[in-house]
Amino acid sequence: MIYSDQSPITFQDDLPESVDIVIIGAGVIGISTAWFLARAGISVLVCDKGRVAGEQSSRNWGWIRQQARDPDELPIVIDSLSTWESLSSEIGEDIGFTRQGVLYAAKTDEELAAHEKWLDTARQHQLDTKMLSAAEVDGLIKDKPGQWKGGMYTPSDARAEPWKAVPALAKALQARGGLIREGCAVRSVDLQGGKVCGVVTEHGRVAAQSVVCAGGAWSTLFMANLGVNLPQLSVRATVVRTAPAPDIYAGGASVGEVAIRRRQDGGYTVASGSTNEHFIGADSFRHFFRFMPALASSARFIRLRFGGNLIERMLPVRRWRDDQVSPFERTRVLNPEPSENALKRMRAGLQKRLPKLAELPFEEAWAGMIDVTPDVVPVMDEVADYPGLYLATGFSGHGFGIGPGAGRVMADMVVGKPAVHDLHRFRLARFSDGSKMKPGPGL
Ligand SMILES: Cc1cc2nc3c(=O)[nH]c(=O)nc-3n(C[C@H](O)[C@H](O)[C@H](O)COP(=O)(O)OP(=O)(O)OC[C@H]3O[C@@H](n4cnc5c(N)ncnc54)[C@H](O)[C@@H]3O)c2cc1C
Repeated sequence: MIYSDQSPITFQDDLPESVDIVIIGAGVIGISTAWFLARAGISVLVCDKGRVAGEQSSRNWGWIRQQARDPDELPIVIDSLSTWESLSSEIGEDIGFTRQGVLYAAKTDEELAAHEKWLDTARQHQLDTKMLSAAEVDGLIKDKPGQWKGGMYTPSDARAEPWKAVPALAKALQARGGLIREGCAVRSVDLQGGKVCGVVTEHGRVAAQSVVCAGGAWSTLFMANLGVNLPQLSVRATVVRTAPAPDIYAGGASVGEVAIRRRQDGGYTVASGSTNEHFIGADSFRHFFRFMPALASSARFIRLRFGGNLIERMLPVRRWRDDQVSPFERTRVLNPEPSENALKRMRAGLQKRLPKLAELPFEEAWAGMIDVTPDVVPVMDEVADYPGLYLATGFSGHGFGIGPGAGRVMADMVVGKPAVHDLHRFRLARFSDGSKMKPGPGL
């Protein structure tokens, strides 16, 4: 189910005068952060301009993937996966979580060799990732045998239903006393002597000791208004849901031109890996050099389009005052049109690779805007210029799986608990202190 401006508002807590922590954004990152804070007895308010999980967090493929992750992200993802598993029983709601594995099928020896390079990382973390022979891939994908050289497979990887999972966690958060307010844009942070002392929302001020910005594709704009440079670009990705389908494979798989994920409703979520689109706008030029290494290594996955970045096109303003309507109130739920070109490529990809799925009706098509950083890994950090303001953003196309793990990281950071993981890679300052960009494995 895809949310839009017309979706009913279901989380409507009254705004308190003050809480310990305010979280901006009710996607998987904001809700997970709030969940761990509430579990620790800390009072928390999550504000979303639109709906809980209205943007990326309900639109994604639903892969919970350790396979081929950036080595610095991997320990957090491993933690996240077990948290997803325990959450599904702890919150007592079905979120479709099941460990059915992730497979990257390889068409050529070169592809196989490229995948194999990641095995060392897997071994260092005792993962069950393995290389498969052609026959083993055919044993997993029960459609058109004989087309694969082999593949890489991680049986312990998982899937869940995104549009169910994040709202279910939000309900559980409310049951623990966390407050959630949909249709409530945060215009800016409230400052006293340069120190954060709360937020200014469209419905009034809320005092807080700390604020976490988990605004996904909007975080750059929010930070720009504060004069903080956060280089993040957005990329449109198109997805479909098929009608109920023969069960050819139970997990998530990248099979040549298409990626599939078995759904709880008996269909498949399908996408085409090569049709993510970045719409060139002022930010593309502003950040061009920083993004060069990532663009070079992701050239296969991202197409450049003219016509303006979708967010920038809608939002000509980069600065506003607290008493002015902010851009966040003008677009409640970012709901881009799916790309016709991507839909055609998906159909062609299914015809070529998975004939048993090729003629299935596409029952629903949608798109989401992915927030991508220059090195394709997120920012999880306190903003040096604004003590008390934290950023958790730029999850670059793989934030659903890592969501609960990142939520735990952020909750610990905000309350000043020592970090369990090495977070050096995720500093905001890496974009400004001369650090060399080391792109992660891609979207
Ligand atoms: C098509 C697609 C497929 C993907 N597939 C996968 C996958 O299979 N596996 C995976 O791990 N990841 C996947 N991802 C990535 C994953 O969905 C995201 O990384 C993750 O959902 C990001 O969560 P978030 O909470 O940071 O952002 P979002 O879910 O985008 O949430 C941000 C929220 O902040 C709100 N907001 C912003 N500014 C304000 C403001 N000023 N005031 C109030 N509210 C505000 C927005 O309304 C929004 O609801 C995919 C993404 C897409 C789009």
